[in-house]
Amino acid sequence: MVDTQRIKFAYHDANWEFDTGDPDALRTPTKIVVAADVTDEMENHLFCPECCTNLTKSPKNRQRFKNGRVACFVHWPSYRHVKCGLRSTKPDGMNFATEEAATQALDRGDLVLVHQFMTQQLHPPETSGTYNQTPVEDIDGPQANFPIARHRGQTVRLPTRISSVQTLCRRLDENLYRHYQLPGNSNPQQLHDLLTPVSGITGEDDRPKLYYGKIMSSSVMSANPQPHHLRMTKLECGSQIVDFYLKQNNASQESKGIGTDKVGRYVLFWSGITANGIGYCAEQLGWGEFALVPDLYTRLLDDLAEA
Ligand SMILES: [Zn+2]
Repeated sequence: MVDTQRIKFAYHDANWEFDTGDPDALRTPTKIVVAADVTDEMENHLFCPECCTNLTKSPKNRQRFKNGRVACFVHWPSYRHVKCGLRSTKPDGMNFATEEAATQALDRGDLVLVHQFMTQQLHPPETSGTYNQTPVEDIDGPQANFPIARHRGQTVRLPTRISSVQTLCRRLDENLYRHYQLPGNSNPQQLHDLLTPVSGITGEDDRPKLYYGKIMSSSVMSANPQPHHLRMTKLECGSQIVDFYLKQNNASQESKGIGTDKVGRYVLFWSGITANGIGYCAEQLGWGEFALVPDLYTRLLDDLAEA
């Protein structure tokens, strides 16, 4: 019995036990491990991101099943009595049947309605003389109509967020299983189902999506680079297209930490796809519409791209 790739990663902790451990202590980005990186010593110390019971890699000693499917994680049968959304082999169709269910999911953080991603950087108000350097990355948005599954055509008013891709990246391990309704989408989906690999891009697309791509190079076409010069960050694409670039000015990319030294890292962005010479690009993104993904999640995204 296989969990059909629903478990994207495990938390590995040699000193944690399901029966006595604190789930918050387990759920730490430094502890995430993908199936391909599991070693023999990790066996018995791998835990489910949702229910925190033990997981095991399947097949145990190979990276792929005989049919070519990549290795994955499965729950231990001994914890079958513990409820977990990742145990089911059915696709996740999170319908919020009632206003109460939707409101509770919002309160728990399991449901996030994104009204839009920030186009401009907002500076926090100065308080009592100490300037807070932390940029504002997520604020309250307007109330919006949200469809209630049980009553066809009925909607309720629920609060939305004006958020940023940076916010999604910060705890990607936790956010992966949260339900997001992104701008222009009519139903919430788990973040892992919304993440679209740049390697799958085949042409122009007006409809913005949440893309992730691996940096191959990043450069400014000038001997004397200025903040307003265009920085071309090349992302790994599939064989269907010639090349793909994130095209933004030097200052805006550098402010996100994107530069020559970030080859091999991922960027996450919310954008449509436009032509760029004989290849394609994402351009003119707002401040909250792209981010460099923390290195802790590089292996996770490698694994998602491969699946
Ligand atoms: Zn589980």
